[in-house]
This record gives sequence, C-alpha cells and structure tokens, in this order.
Amino acid sequence: MNYEDFFAARLEDLHKGGNYRVFADLERVVGSFPKAKNYTADGSVQDVAIWCNNDYLGMGMHPQVLEAMKVALDSCGAGAGGTRNISGTNHYHVLLEQELASWHNKDAALLFTSGYVANMTALMTLGSKIPGLVMFSDELNHNSMIEGVRHSRAPKEIWKHNDYNDLHRRLSQYDRDTPKLVVFESVYSMDGDIAPLEKIIEVAEHHNAMTFLDEVHAVGMYGEYGSGVAERDGVRERVTILQATMGKAIGVIGGYVAASHNLIDFIRSYGAGFIFTTSLPPTIAAGALESVRYLREHNELRIRHQERAATLKARLQALNIPVLPSVSHIVPVHVGNAALCKQASDDLLNRHGVYVQPINYPTVPVGTERLRITPTPLHEDADMDHLCAAMGEIWDRLNLPRSITAAAAE
Ligand SMILES: *Cc1c(COP(=O)(O)O)cnc(C)c1O
Repeated sequence: MNYEDFFAARLEDLHKGGNYRVFADLERVVGSFPKAKNYTADGSVQDVAIWCNNDYLGMGMHPQVLEAMKVALDSCGAGAGGTRNISGTNHYHVLLEQELASWHNKDAALLFTSGYVANMTALMTLGSKIPGLVMFSDELNHNSMIEGVRHSRAPKEIWKHNDYNDLHRRLSQYDRDTPKLVVFESVYSMDGDIAPLEKIIEVAEHHNAMTFLDEVHAVGMYGEYGSGVAERDGVRERVTILQATMGKAIGVIGGYVAASHNLIDFIRSYGAGFIFTTSLPPTIAAGALESVRYLREHNELRIRHQERAATLKARLQALNIPVLPSVSHIVPVHVGNAALCKQASDDLLNRHGVYVQPINYPTVPVGTERLRITPTPLHEDADMDHLCAAMGEIWDRLNLPRSITAAAAE
C-alpha cells in the first residue's frame, strides 16, 4: 500500500464534499472579548468578532479567574506532577471536587482532563463492570457518549431523540432486575433544544434504571445558581450521574462527574481514563474553582445571556433569516448545503470580520448544514448590529434559503 496516496485520497474526499475542516488561527485578547485577532493565510492579521464561542459567558477572561490562576501558578507551579494516585492530587483538585459536588447537590464529584474523557471513562467503566448492564442512549448524543457506550461493549438501545415514549417501550423489553442506564443530554448544542428531563427521569425510575445526564451545554447557564437544567427543573437529586465540562461556560478546561459517594468512588477506583493519566494542572483547578464560585452567585449573567440570545433570534427572524426553533442560548441558522454554509462563513469572516464556524456533516445530518451562533452576555447591541447587517448582505448575495422547509425541499 502507498500510505501517502491513501491519506491524500481520503482528504480529497473531504474537500470534494465541502467537509474539509479549516481552523481559524485566532488570538484571543484579554479585555476585548468577544473580539480576537485572526491570522490569515496571506500573513496579515485581522480583527474579528467571535460569534461561535463556547466560552459562553466570557469566564475564560474574567479578571477573578485569571487572578486565581496566577496565584496558583506562582504558588504551585506549572504541572500537577503525577497521576492522582501518584503524587498528582493537589489541594486545588480536592477543593474543586468539593465545590462541584455541593453545586450539584451530590455527595461527591470526580475530575477528568476533559468532558470527553469524563463521558468516555464513566460510561466505559459502568458498562464494562456492571454485569448485564444495558445502555439506553438518545440518538443525538454527543460523540463522547457514543464512544463510551460503544467501547464499554454493553448491549445498547438507541432511543428516538427526546422521545420518552420510545424510551419507555425499549425499557419495557427488559426485566425489572436487568441493570439499566439511560444516557442523555439536557441542552443539545447543535439544535439548541432541551430534553424533557422530568419525563425521562420518571420513565427511568419506573423501570428501575439509572440516569446519566450530560449537562455540558447547561452548567453555568441554567438554574438560579447556574448548576444546569436539572437544577432549573428541580430534578437534580433524581439524576443518578451528572456529567459536565469546565471548558465551556466555566471558561477553562477539564470535565467531571457528580453522583453518590459509592458511585464516584467506584469510577475513581476502576476508571482507566481517570487512573492512568496525569491530573489537571493546579492552575486549571484554581481557575475553575474561582469560576464556579463566581457563577453560583451571579444569576444576572444568566439573565443577560438569555436576553442576548432571545434578542438575536428576533432580529434575525425580522431579517427573514431562518433560525431553527431553539429554546436555549444557542442560535442555529439554517443553510442546508455544505458548500454554501462554508461560503457564508468565509464571506462573513473575510468581508465583514465576523467569525461563525460552519457546522457540516458529520456533526449534523446532510441537508441540515447550519451556522451556529452563540451570543454571550458580552456581545453588545453594536456587535449585534454589525452581525445582522453582515448576515443580511450574505443572505441576499448568496441567495440563501429564507425558510427551513424551502431549503429541505431543494
Ligand atoms: C464539548 C462536549 C463534550 C466534551 O467536553 P470537553 O470538555 O470539550 O471535552 C461532551 N459532551 C458534549 C455534549 C459536548 O458538546
């Protein structure tokens, strides 16, 4: 086999389908969020407004978070110095795990190097170590959950997205005594819809199943204290295992799960992706700790965040630009074609200094390609004026779809 030819041919497939990924080469600028510098291919540097940030609340630049990280850097140094078991448990890890557990009203929490690793490790551990466990996974679950379920090798049922009747039917096929785990998310980040948590939990409880809830796109942003949709909906005590990231609204990096003492101790003791890796740097734990403490106390940030999202949805709709029916802070705009979606994104960047990454297959199904816009509390009205004018110009010039159905029928 000619290996180089093989790689080149598979990359060419991606280019042909308009699915080859190009990363914007950005430099974030403290104090200027959501503005950043963009290093272009021709060697110049352009100022851009970022509209697809997962640092949803700007906490990655918050002065208190930065200060906490500087203090930890000067006192504890750069790296953690080991795995958690072999000298790598820093006091900041312990404090952060306590803070996260108390935030979610759970007995205990456990840190991972990312949300991806948290999902993979927790699901693999439960699925491979609980004899006879069957997994029930929502069809739109994130790749990290799909891979965790798959690598656990536990038998699985994929239920229709958010459809608790389908979940009920599938759970009904198994005895009450069969161990079961229902795996789902609260906020689905590509469509911006929110799962009916109470209904899903009710069905799971009826069948004596455990629940595993990914709140990655909700922590920091929902509930009066910001611990997520389970808090907002008053059901967090009924969720068996809660999983989230510290890389999005918390603004740093890392992931975690929160649950009962025994369940957390079980994953701590058997989870390979927790045990066999160097722990997060103390600076990261200190920054996340400060960020969570801040977020717990500042509901006004969440109110402003929701207002910004609602305002942007209304303004785009007024321009006859097709916003998908999101009930969350995510503003997905339908394009429905991979090449046009990339073109729209390129033009926004090159002509208008607005950065919104195109979302194409395989992240979303073919025909539903979109621009996924994430306004933050730090996007001002003037930023929104600029974005809306740019989107209007591009929709006219590229003759992009004006409704979701019209585009799907093309
Ligand atoms: C981003 C994401 C993750 C992974 O979290 P990281 O901390 O970025 O690894 C997990 N689940 C969902 C739904 C996500 O969107």
